[in-house]
Amino acid sequence: MRKLNVVYNHNYDIPLPDGHRFVGTKFSDLYNYIKDSDIYKNLIIHKSIEAPISDVQCVHKSEYVLNVKQGSLSRADERKINLPWSKRLARRSFLAIQGTLQTSQLALENGVACHLAGGTHHAFKDCGSGFCVFNDLAYASIALLNQKKVKKILILDLDVHQGDGTASICEKIDNIFTCSIHCKNNFPFNKKNSNLDVPIDDEVNDVKYINILTKTLDQIESNFTPDIVFYDAGVDVHSNDDLGNLNLTDDGIKKRDEIVCEYFKEKKIPICTVIGGGYSKNRQELASRHFSIFETVSKTYL
Ligand SMILES: [Zn+2]
Repeated sequence: MRKLNVVYNHNYDIPLPDGHRFVGTKFSDLYNYIKDSDIYKNLIIHKSIEAPISDVQCVHKSEYVLNVKQGSLSRADERKINLPWSKRLARRSFLAIQGTLQTSQLALENGVACHLAGGTHHAFKDCGSGFCVFNDLAYASIALLNQKKVKKILILDLDVHQGDGTASICEKIDNIFTCSIHCKNNFPFNKKNSNLDVPIDDEVNDVKYINILTKTLDQIESNFTPDIVFYDAGVDVHSNDDLGNLNLTDDGIKKRDEIVCEYFKEKKIPICTVIGGGYSKNRQELASRHFSIFETVSKTYL
């Protein structure tokens, strides 16, 4: 029996004030949900380690990295991130970006691997934004290129929000192709240029979305053949998500994940999945939505 490699760390949760929009326990909630599921016995769980400061400084501005580490962010910087700084937030920020890199390395060895965090796609070179401190997708992609592990990378971002930070950091790197399918009328309101942006209208349902996704995959194929794919499987495309404006059902998200996994499996292109965004006050419901990608990967690959 093949096993699925998954990366996690018990220090991913963030302490937040009551009523905050971000669910600070969503990482351990998801871990516990997976632990109680049938797929758990087929997982190999790897613990993420903290990214070295100098490595993070290859992607983010040195001063910003130090401000995150030391808790000396300006009020304006903290407001942009929209999460209160804490030692735990700083630590988890270094853990989670390295976690995505570790996941991508496992994906290269095994064809697929999943991170129980990641998708912090709003973080820019010199500041964080929208609940994102550092950009794990850009960090891991640039590290893989520097390590000469791969030549070409696709970042496929299906979170409901545009991957503006990723687009901006990777803009001048020819070997990284960024693609974002996102809701037109949603955060960030000042969109950046990905290599391929697919803005979609509010209330798009399962059928329309799947149609758009299939066309987009074909469009990428005619432009770019990657050695690895980073897949941001954000679940804020769900109709009941607190911050999304689309109308996807649980089945629609499942179908989306199946299409992506089967597409790249068939082409023998390794895939590294990250959980991306998902917002619901119902913690169990949120965990079950994020579980979808782990279930689909297990079914497709094991
Ligand atoms: Zn999002």
